[in-house]
Amino acid sequence: MVPRLSRRTFLKAATATTAATYAARAIPVFAAADKGSVAIHTPLTTFAYSDVTLLDGAMKRQFEENHARFLNLDDDRLLKVFRQVAGLPAPGEDMGGWYDLSGFSLERNDFHGFIAGHSFGQYLSALARAYAVTGSEPTRAKINRLVKGYGETLDPKAKFFAGYRLPAYTYDKLSCGLIDAHEFAHDPRAMDIHERLTHAMVAYLPEKALSRQEQRSRPHKDTSFTWDETYTLPENLFLAYQRSGDSFYRDMAKRYLEDDTYFNPLSEGNNVLPFEHAYSHVNALSSAMQAYITLGSEKHLRAAKNGFEMLLKTQSFATGGWGPDESFGEPGRGQLGDSLASTHASFETPCGAYGHFKITRYLLRVTKDSQYGDSMERVLYNTILGAWPIQADGTSFYYSDYATTGKKVWYGQKWPCCSGTFPQLAADYHISTYLRSDDGVYVNLFTPSAVQWNDGSGRYGLKQETKYPFDSKIQIQVSGSQPRDYTLYVRIPYWATPGPVLSVNGTRVSDAVQPGAFASIRRTWKDGDRVELELPMPLRLEPVDANHPNLVALVQGPLVLFAIADSQPSFDHSALLQAKPANHSTGDWLATSADGSNVTMRPFMNIDKESYSTYVLLKS
Ligand SMILES: [Zn+2]
Repeated sequence: MVPRLSRRTFLKAATATTAATYAARAIPVFAAADKGSVAIHTPLTTFAYSDVTLLDGAMKRQFEENHARFLNLDDDRLLKVFRQVAGLPAPGEDMGGWYDLSGFSLERNDFHGFIAGHSFGQYLSALARAYAVTGSEPTRAKINRLVKGYGETLDPKAKFFAGYRLPAYTYDKLSCGLIDAHEFAHDPRAMDIHERLTHAMVAYLPEKALSRQEQRSRPHKDTSFTWDETYTLPENLFLAYQRSGDSFYRDMAKRYLEDDTYFNPLSEGNNVLPFEHAYSHVNALSSAMQAYITLGSEKHLRAAKNGFEMLLKTQSFATGGWGPDESFGEPGRGQLGDSLASTHASFETPCGAYGHFKITRYLLRVTKDSQYGDSMERVLYNTILGAWPIQADGTSFYYSDYATTGKKVWYGQKWPCCSGTFPQLAADYHISTYLRSDDGVYVNLFTPSAVQWNDGSGRYGLKQETKYPFDSKIQIQVSGSQPRDYTLYVRIPYWATPGPVLSVNGTRVSDAVQPGAFASIRRTWKDGDRVELELPMPLRLEPVDANHPNLVALVQGPLVLFAIADSQPSFDHSALLQAKPANHSTGDWLATSADGSNVTMRPFMNIDKESYSTYVLLKS
């Protein structure tokens, strides 16, 4: 069953967006001369995509599935809508779904042709990041063809956007794709096209970022549609400034910071999240982070930190997902618990996870605070790793369903927003797993993977072997062309009590291992050194919100365990906490319900078509 779409849900569903990422990208030598300045060099930086290898596991599988899907998608189909509007020959089949030129009808609740070409830039971005990971020559060639093909459709006035429903929304993604094509695939045309496009877009954008309320007061002249996302533009504009050195982008970015209605109140601690569209306003926090990094604006850093804290404390489910019906609710009113009975559209999964990874990565880079890694892994294991892969025809996974009785479903329209963010995010797994500082390396995510780096004196690396989160042990093998003094930082999740055990070459490191912080080990590392971490992963119960203390999720370490059942089971408190592992390979647990039956408790990533309850009822 496709989640029902009320008009309200539909309007909100229509408006996810994406943006590019991270500032601290390596600038290729050829571009370094015209690099725009940044005010802040963050204490942590990401590794290059190519420095990290994902080894066999769910993250690698998702990356490879997404890379293959978009590498094999026909260029003519991707370019068709742009060629059609430009009056050029437009061979190839229609993409279908949201991507086509026509068919959309608010009255008929028909999303076909909803936002023509909206995700082209995201697919380009995802391919560029995948090229950065793999160095795949067919991928680079495809990026060059797509950029060239898109450039041929772009006229000086960008007439594609005349009468277009959501110009900022689609421009933002094109901007991201062109920046990434330039940065990662060194595409020779991408930044020139980006410049022409951006100068032309000014005519289609309002003079500043508009809140939803402001947009309602000045509706689109051609439709009743007023849900564009001008407030997500600054992140990519700042990145374009950093790539090109052109102050036009920096000044335009400043103009679209949503200060009056969003960042100013957030920076003062006022929770203005309620009733806003969820994903795009989380995504906007990454624009605030770029304002901090590029301009040094402490106000915008405060806004991002506060906004993220409000997201965690007032809007989030146990899974780490947020924003039922793509909207934020008023704290203290039990809206999360109420949503279990009112909607199946509980969390916009690929887009939300993409935005969540992006803001937590920014905040981690700036603060070195492990809570952002804890939050990132919660979203990873309980949401996106359970998303079904995008199908060849564009059929996509969109909402996670936390309803009283839920099910995984396909979204009703092909090539929605979530088909754009999923391949971007899967490439970003590489840059989210390890980070680096002046004095060493941070292990942020526990997953089979390796990282390698050069630092002048030699080549060094780490290799992780683990079945985490289905096993509590993580092994890290150190390699190096010669002994090297540096600090290895390992995230100890806040829930890892009592007594996480960290050891080097079999000797326990007793000090500096505190749950909720990075443990640090400074020493002269030698080739063959072994680091072992064992994390206690106790079961705990998390109520959906304070107004519904009897609706709880069973959580083990970072994993929510979903009750596999056709109707919501109920449990005695102690019986639920006495659940027992049943199958290590599937991560299944068994718990005895209040009526005496055994209920399988299963992680989201191992659920397929079976019905489940995210939250179960505690018998009082
Ligand atoms: Zn989406």
